[in-house]
Amino acid sequence: MTHVLAIDIGGTKLAAALVDRAGTVLRSATVPTPREDVFGALARLVTGVVADGPAPVAVGIGCAGPLNLASGTVSPVNITTWRDFPLRERVRELTGLPTVLAGDAQCFALGEHWLGMAEESPSMLGIVVSTGIGGGLVIGGAPLLGPTGNAGHVGHMTVNPDGDPCPCGSRGCVESYASGPNLVRWALANGWTPNPSPDDSTAGPEASRSPDGAMLAKDAASGHPVALAAFERGARALAAMIVSTAAATEVTHVVIGGGVANAGPVLFDPLERAMDELAGFAFVRAVEIRRSKLGVQAALAGAAKLAWSRGATTAAPPPGPHDAR
Ligand SMILES: [Zn+2]
Repeated sequence: MTHVLAIDIGGTKLAAALVDRAGTVLRSATVPTPREDVFGALARLVTGVVADGPAPVAVGIGCAGPLNLASGTVSPVNITTWRDFPLRERVRELTGLPTVLAGDAQCFALGEHWLGMAEESPSMLGIVVSTGIGGGLVIGGAPLLGPTGNAGHVGHMTVNPDGDPCPCGSRGCVESYASGPNLVRWALANGWTPNPSPDDSTAGPEASRSPDGAMLAKDAASGHPVALAAFERGARALAAMIVSTAAATEVTHVVIGGGVANAGPVLFDPLERAMDELAGFAFVRAVEIRRSKLGVQAALAGAAKLAWSRGATTAAPPPGPHDAR
């Protein structure tokens, strides 16, 4: 049984796993992302996962963006010591294996497609709604990465051309309506104050954590009108982005993951209602929205799939003239 090495790199954690051709994980490990010497930590993690196991034939990496696939470099927003860091080359040197790289949200989409719906549909949109909003497209069974690896940035699709400026340079991006911090920001500005949890009652107000998306979701679930309105507003923005993406690409399925998706019905119910309202053509109305099945494992699975489809083919090229780069 041969394996590939899958790596998932984010601002919070580094993960690595040996994964077979069916998507089964042989062994895996995770460490918190250190503030300094991130590559040193990654190298130790990879060495530990690979030690004494079957030698992998290729490496797939999903990394937080921005990244540049043309140069194989990454500049993750939350890993400040990596700017134009030559990640693909460094991992290739470390492992001596063919190494492929993609964005973490692209890997999320690819992983959900591979292990969740490859037999049902060739084309889907994966969305990660969290501190920001990331996304990835699988079209005709293959990830759509784009020349520099930035395809699928659906969080920065404009849903309101007259909306507020976004840090990306555009206006009215869906992220400014529907990411966790922006849901909270809008709710606070419109009169929401988090209900103290019974668990916190002995700790006093000073000990309470700052308001976050999980607290907003909990208050929405118990019927707080402003919390509900925040999710309603975010869900409408997501629906506008989804129907536009579906109209452009004819994806048939959308999988939503990330921390905000844990809000459950307070997000997904208004999302379905907004889809009913905004979707026009029959092929857009037919789009099916699902919650992520794999959760945090999806990006790692997608990195493995990437290695199987691209890295492993360069590991064992067919006989005959070819570019064995
Ligand atoms: Zn933006």
